[in-house]
Amino acid sequence: MSAEHSEESPDRYARHDAAYALGSLDPGEREAFEGHLRSCPACAARTRDARALVRLLDRTIGRFR
Ligand SMILES: [Zn+2]
Repeated sequence: MSAEHSEESPDRYARHDAAYALGSLDPGEREAFEGHLRSCPACAARTRDARALVRLLDRTIGRFR
């Protein structure tokens, strides 16, 4: 379980960015992740990118609805 990101410190939030941007985290997970974002620039940057992508998809899909 730790082999994947052995080059960096283990980060159990590394895969939460997309789920967070899509609003699919549990309330407890979201709270924990938001706390983590304040101390983890890597996750904060990924989350920013994921949210930008979600907004873009939203606009694109909205155009075809
Ligand atoms: Zn992180």
